[in-house]
Amino acid sequence: MASRRISLGMPTPRRTDETAALPDTSDRPDTPALADRFGREATDLRLSLTDFCNLRCTYCMPESGMAFLKKDQLLSVDEVVRLVRIGVEHLGIDQVRFTGGEPLTRPDLEEIIAGVAALEPRPNISLTTNAIGLDHRAGPLREAGLDRINVSLDSVVTETFERLTRRPLLHRVLAGIDGARAAGLDPIKVNAVLLPGVNDHELPDLLDWCLQRDLQLRVIEQMPLDADHIWDRGSMITAGDIHQMLEPRYALTPVTEARDGAPAELFEVADRTTGTHRGRVGIIASVTRPFCADCRRTRLTAEGRVRTCLFSREETDLRTALRSGAEDEEIATIWRAAQWGKKAGHGMDREDFVQPERPMSAIGG
Ligand code: SAM
Ligand code: SF4
Ligand code: SF4
Repeated sequence: MASRRISLGMPTPRRTDETAALPDTSDRPDTPALADRFGREATDLRLSLTDFCNLRCTYCMPESGMAFLKKDQLLSVDEVVRLVRIGVEHLGIDQVRFTGGEPLTRPDLEEIIAGVAALEPRPNISLTTNAIGLDHRAGPLREAGLDRINVSLDSVVTETFERLTRRPLLHRVLAGIDGARAAGLDPIKVNAVLLPGVNDHELPDLLDWCLQRDLQLRVIEQMPLDADHIWDRGSMITAGDIHQMLEPRYALTPVTEARDGAPAELFEVADRTTGTHRGRVGIIASVTRPFCADCRRTRLTAEGRVRTCLFSREETDLRTALRSGAEDEEIATIWRAAQWGKKAGHGMDREDFVQPERPMSAIGG
């Protein structure tokens, strides 16, 4: 594992992974799809709209010293919509999730969503957000065409939230969730990452809080994508631990529907004492039960680089082609070639695993 970085109070250069030469595609079948060598086809695009965020979650960003992209480095509304259109029309993308950094910090998010909602065929449009400001924007976002939303919330206890996010903004997140509900966004999924000794003991209460409000909790195993490189395979909270923590209070039964490439394993939840059915919970075991063999994802960073995997250490620039007058099909060809080089999986358990340079906030989770 890479060593921890020490801040000396100097401005930190932006961390990005290298852009790489495109892989050899001589063995690639002649298909328009975003195929890779392992028989997968990406239909799900994760598009980061910014690397900026108003929280500083410890498992994602450093406390200080992040250098953010400048406005002219970010993809513009027209560039985002054009890239998604290329994905939809040329490459078979049928789902788009906007993420970041914090996507709500882009004032033009509604415009972007409206542009994507007007595409033919129209992709399913979702958003992953920390919900700060959502109380005012959920209505306009829904009107623009937003279909689904995931809100990240690791604790509903003020002190724990502040310890995790380094910001006193729990009330703003809760107002955002209320706003999403008032705007009719349904379902609202809640993503939570558990950190040992910080919020793990709160899990049964967090699940209860979500079930009472008809929010679908998804508990995510922490991955080594933190800027401070504090992730530790030995002490991270695993899916097995999550079951153990929930079992005393709840009976979990696996849902019978096919998982269909979804990262979350879903469970029906019943109160152990009364047997009352309460709803569902999802567990995303990216580390201990990886689902890479079924991965249907391709990613674009906020500055327009393809990352074929969260854990890619090489990227492919599309923005230069976009800004130098390339035709749609030329851009699609570059994207296809990049995807052909996607690795089989994250390789976290291999001896030679190296964490990407980018923290999660600059990748887009
Ligand atoms: N700011 C938005 C938010 O927090 O929802 C969107 C971007 S954030 C990077 C997307 C998701 O990545 C969040 O649900 C967050 O919990 C998750 N995430 C960030 N760092 C992570 C890590 N090291 N391991 C697992 N999930 C992580
Ligand atoms: Fe920001 Fe989301 Fe990362 Fe938290 S997880 S620091 S809200 S980008
Ligand atoms: Fe897909 Fe990479 Fe995530 Fe595996 S680690 S599921 S290959 S994005």
